[in-house]
Amino acid sequence: MTLRERFSMVFGGALSMFKGMAVTGHWLSHPKGIVTEQYPENRKTLAMHPNFRGEVVMPHDAAGEHKCTGCSLCEKACPNGSISVLNTRNLAGKKVLGKYLYRLDSCTLCALCVEACPFDAIRMGQNFELARYDRSGFELTLNQKEGR
Ligand code: SF4
Ligand code: SF4
Repeated sequence: MTLRERFSMVFGGALSMFKGMAVTGHWLSHPKGIVTEQYPENRKTLAMHPNFRGEVVMPHDAAGEHKCTGCSLCEKACPNGSISVLNTRNLAGKKVLGKYLYRLDSCTLCALCVEACPFDAIRMGQNFELARYDRSGFELTLNQKEGR
């Protein structure tokens, strides 16, 4: 190797190092522009993108009421039988939702059930920590109170 080639190699290496340090220095002085999520330290404040699909959830209002009528359209739309809508009758004899069973372990998070619902009663949640230690934890009842 000639002296010129050695000099070029050392100079190129130093230049590369300073370029890397410049990038590091830039983000040290502009922390608000950093997009890397410091997970799990930021677990409590981490907000997923609005289009993110976590598990299926059934929102309830402050009084514990939901919008589900038990029409079963979501059950029919689900391609792999992850939803079972079990209806019952209230005191007035009207058909109402008894239990809304959802199996997270077979759900592919495709959102076809959400699209099929004419009452906006279910949606894809934002929870991304879906692992469980026990298989029984994947069988969920989404309505809080039976028969409502
Ligand atoms: S997200 Fe897809 S797979 Fe999961 S329950 Fe809904 S329709 Fe079924
Ligand atoms: S979630 Fe929607 S589509 Fe499914 S049973 Fe309830 S109202 Fe019908």
